[in-house]
Amino acid sequence: MPVFGGPTKNGVGSGRPASTTTSGRPKKDPHDFADNLKIKSCPSQRQTQHALKDIKMEEPAAKRAHIVGMENDVATPQQPRMRLCIATCNRADYSKLAPIMLAAKADEDIDLSVIVLGCHLIDDYGSTYRYIEQDGIDIDSRLHTIVRGEDEAAMVESIGLAMVKLPDVLLRLEPHVLIVHGDRFDALSLAASAALMNIRIVHVEGGEISGTIDDMIRHSITKLAHYHVCCTERAHSRLLAMCEDNNAILLAGCTSYDKLLNTDTTNCTAVLEKWLPKDVQPHDYLVALQHPVTTNISKSLKMFGLMLDALLEFGKKVIVLFPNIDAGSKEMTRIMRQKGIEHHPSFKTAKHIPFDEFLILVANAGCMIGNSSAGIREAGAFGTPVINLGSRQTGRETGENVLHCREADTTEKIKQALEIQYQKQYPPSYIYGDGHAIPRIMKFLKSLDITGETQKQFVFPPMRPSHHRDIDHILERQSALAVDLGGTQLRVALIENHGDILVQTSNPTPKTNEERMSKLLEMLMNLAQKAISLNCRVLGVGISTGGRVDPRGGVVKHSTKALEGWSEVDLRTPISSMLHLPVWVDNDGNCAALGVRAFGCGKGVEDFVTIATGTGIGGGIVLGGRLIHGTDFCAAELGHTKVSLEGPPCQCGGTGCVEAYSSGLALQKEAQRLHEEGNLLTEGGHLENNEKITAKHLVEAARLGNQKAQDIMDRGAKAVASVVVNLLHILNPSRVVLCGVLAPAYIETVRNIVKKEALPSAAHAEIIASTLKEPALLGAASLVLEYATRRIY
Ligand SMILES: [Zn+2]
Repeated sequence: MPVFGGPTKNGVGSGRPASTTTSGRPKKDPHDFADNLKIKSCPSQRQTQHALKDIKMEEPAAKRAHIVGMENDVATPQQPRMRLCIATCNRADYSKLAPIMLAAKADEDIDLSVIVLGCHLIDDYGSTYRYIEQDGIDIDSRLHTIVRGEDEAAMVESIGLAMVKLPDVLLRLEPHVLIVHGDRFDALSLAASAALMNIRIVHVEGGEISGTIDDMIRHSITKLAHYHVCCTERAHSRLLAMCEDNNAILLAGCTSYDKLLNTDTTNCTAVLEKWLPKDVQPHDYLVALQHPVTTNISKSLKMFGLMLDALLEFGKKVIVLFPNIDAGSKEMTRIMRQKGIEHHPSFKTAKHIPFDEFLILVANAGCMIGNSSAGIREAGAFGTPVINLGSRQTGRETGENVLHCREADTTEKIKQALEIQYQKQYPPSYIYGDGHAIPRIMKFLKSLDITGETQKQFVFPPMRPSHHRDIDHILERQSALAVDLGGTQLRVALIENHGDILVQTSNPTPKTNEERMSKLLEMLMNLAQKAISLNCRVLGVGISTGGRVDPRGGVVKHSTKALEGWSEVDLRTPISSMLHLPVWVDNDGNCAALGVRAFGCGKGVEDFVTIATGTGIGGGIVLGGRLIHGTDFCAAELGHTKVSLEGPPCQCGGTGCVEAYSSGLALQKEAQRLHEEGNLLTEGGHLENNEKITAKHLVEAARLGNQKAQDIMDRGAKAVASVVVNLLHILNPSRVVLCGVLAPAYIETVRNIVKKEALPSAAHAEIIASTLKEPALLGAASLVLEYATRRIY
């Protein structure tokens, strides 16, 4: 089904595109598909936007000649004149790009530069750059980019060579827009280079499918390109299916159709005499053009030999074009020589035929045979019969004139196809174009925003909005069972990967080791059951406990009076064998530091110290990103840092420890003393009958203005501040984190004292009160989650 309708007859034989004026500017195109042209600013505006001033600053001197006579144009400096670069790699892409080059060259609003690379510069392939020069197009850069060898590896090396050479050229030419064509490996190197250098890419002939390695290359270039000029409606649909933005796609039709439908092919005598054996008549000869199929070279070589045999037996006059440079082409040339084709009276061979002469040959042929895209695209417009051999053009849209001979594995089959097709008459088909591609393309190019962002946006199909949440319900959540065993409370929690506490239970800490263990196991078993119903996958058990802990053995070595008898306790073995889960154990101060590192203000901090206040005082030190344990797991026992030579007795058996001044237990003792003296309550304070006096009462009394309570609190804060100052001088961390219930009560005093007492260079450390609710529990969970999922403990 023709997409563009038939060609209009205007301009046939006039030698220039039908819809252009003498200046080469597009006039109103009667076949304009308005919805395909998403114009960001209209060309007439654009024509007035070229500032002489701007051009003088921006443009190379050689290019200024173009602007003579434009002095009257209005200056709008934000819109520079478009520097358009077109790159051509071989005769096939040149035939599609030449009409764009000629139109751009003739356009006053565009500075054209042309890069020539690949086969154009190789004699074996006809040194086809000469035809570009003959067409009057100036070549700005010639790049030898072909590594000889004609095999797969040589193609890859050629891409590499092109990519070594292209950056220099692109830096020099500084194009706003680069046009590349098709699906050749050279084009891939162009597109990759330009994309990396933030140059807008217009890709011509994307969205098609052919059935070779070309498909992968073509679609890759589509992904790299910012804009697309395609030939057929199906190609357009495929570009959309590849998540390309409809606003960036122009359905223009094939550029070669502009020439093809406007060339007089009836006057053919001279061309036939030039390219065919003597005494040839129109419609009584064949055009053969077979390229190697790189994904199956041996098969395509065999097919090429069979085609030549069939043509020799068929006995008609033939023009054979040399294949392109794909892997295998050297072999094909050898096969041609073996069969004596070059000297056979019925055959002529050619490395290159100029496009208009090629059109005349195709239009008047009795049949075209091979696997060239020209057979599929150009021949259809003339209704010339075509025999398409093998898989190279599989998937291409074709007109009625094409007979596919996919399994051309015998001479007989090919001869049979020749018998069917030779000199048959077909109606012309216009799937690939209506002859008005160039005016559309020029209009499209001028609509491009050449000053804005080059970031490409892909248009992905809409995702279901609830997608993510659905997944959450379906997938298990990775989680940990966490334990915090303190002097007063035994707490157990189920904590998921991001630090959310899903379930938490607590119980007063039992007095004996046996009771502690059995209570702990019971609580963990219950929680493990609960985890199943919450769709959580438990990765392990993390235990934070008071006392010195050997984390490698999972054993509590020794504890203070706060946990009576809690020494040489193997926590790992019984819990692990009961729950069949790995178990990690560490000291509660260390765990608080790990919690702060995993989920709090220690995230990403290399060197920091935490001081955890609770019943006792614990600490954790992270240096160089690692938690410090010390020789006998006694590092960071900050609660027993000495802050006075003759201080009050401590639970550890020593005196003057910070824990004896600043811990919850120490404050509780002081609160009790004040209460007994009748000095605890102030106006507004309140005590229930038989209520147990705790540190909370002291904090509250101080807050309400009880000076005696305040003095005790200040003393506690000063003791903590001394520890902090010592730490700053010993370790020079970047952060000190106070956590636990008393952190908010101490933080201000600590900051003030540190400011006064720390050495200036150590005093830069930030002193922060952590807002993390359960640092020790979270740290215990992080023992599991970080080890089990990321292995960094
Ligand atoms: Zn102590």
